[in-house]
Amino acid sequence: MRIENIEKTRLTADVFEEKNFGSSFSDHMLVCEFKENEWQEPVIKPYGQINFTPAMHALHYGQACFEGMKAFKGENGDVFLFRPEKNFERINKSAERLAMPAIPKEIFLDGLKALIDLDRAWVPSKYGMSLYIRPVIFSTEEIISARGSNSFMFVILTSIAPDYYNKPLRVKVADHYSRAANGGVGYAKAAGNYGASFYPTGLAKEEGFDQVIWTDAATHSYFEEAGTMNIFVRIEDKLLTAPISDRILNGVTRDSLILLAEKNGMTVEQRPIEVSEVYEANQNGSLKEVFGCGTAVVLNNFSAIGYTDKVMELPEITEESWGPQLKKQMNEIQYGIADDPFGWRVLVERK
Ligand SMILES: *Cc1c(COP(=O)(O)O)cnc(C)c1O
Repeated sequence: MRIENIEKTRLTADVFEEKNFGSSFSDHMLVCEFKENEWQEPVIKPYGQINFTPAMHALHYGQACFEGMKAFKGENGDVFLFRPEKNFERINKSAERLAMPAIPKEIFLDGLKALIDLDRAWVPSKYGMSLYIRPVIFSTEEIISARGSNSFMFVILTSIAPDYYNKPLRVKVADHYSRAANGGVGYAKAAGNYGASFYPTGLAKEEGFDQVIWTDAATHSYFEEAGTMNIFVRIEDKLLTAPISDRILNGVTRDSLILLAEKNGMTVEQRPIEVSEVYEANQNGSLKEVFGCGTAVVLNNFSAIGYTDKVMELPEITEESWGPQLKKQMNEIQYGIADDPFGWRVLVERK
């Protein structure tokens, strides 16, 4: 791996006051090209522009997928990653589905650690803030023929994840648009999945909601995901979450919350969740909370769910609510404050 250091850091104290997610980029990025049938030597270099023409394949055919992860700073300045091997496995599942070459572990994981080590000063030390990590692979061949590209680029960039207060979200159940279908790419972090979600999300926003709850494409009667989060429903003392399928993104946060909830003695069932069952539970008072989870927010409770022309107002979040408790436990593991019984934290060593 080659390292080209930046001449002068762009880091200033203002960076840690950043309020917008994913807009303040650190000094370096990792770039690795795939050509002539193999991944070339990765280079860590100053973050900046890359050259391409309007014929770049990815712009036309969307052969592109990404990952989302975070680096956290503990009280003594140690920097941790959270279950990074899960993201490594997942980017290669996404890549395979999109006919892109798998990334070797040395490039993804060793490259990631070297990059975060080099830019460790960019990892905010404030609890609640972190350095967001965005690995991305896209097709780079200069060709507009509708076939898979022969060249690709893998980039890892990092940006400040601010500590934003998560107000409970109002979400709208999709009864027409769909995010994913059987045999499709819903389980992959494919760029096109997000491109396709902005329009229906925009319509929900016009109606006063923050996000869409995606339902099964065939009947729109089962909860699948909430925006770019996996979804959990608590009825009495049971947590329900939709089972992993080819329509559902296998979230690292989802998996971690299931294990954490079970460790707390909470019952978790992975089974299809019917919209009508949640509606009825809300009517009869057995619905306790509904939340979404993902790397960006960890966990966000919902305050209301819109369904056709009805709106279910959900119970208030209290000290008894599980969502905030689970979020706190996750965060404390991530920042190195609590013990790590599952071995999820990975220390970024100083080189
Ligand atoms: C990334 C993502 C998630 C959450 O996955 P994490 O690994 O927990 O960050 C859930 N759903 C969708 C659609 C996603 O893109």
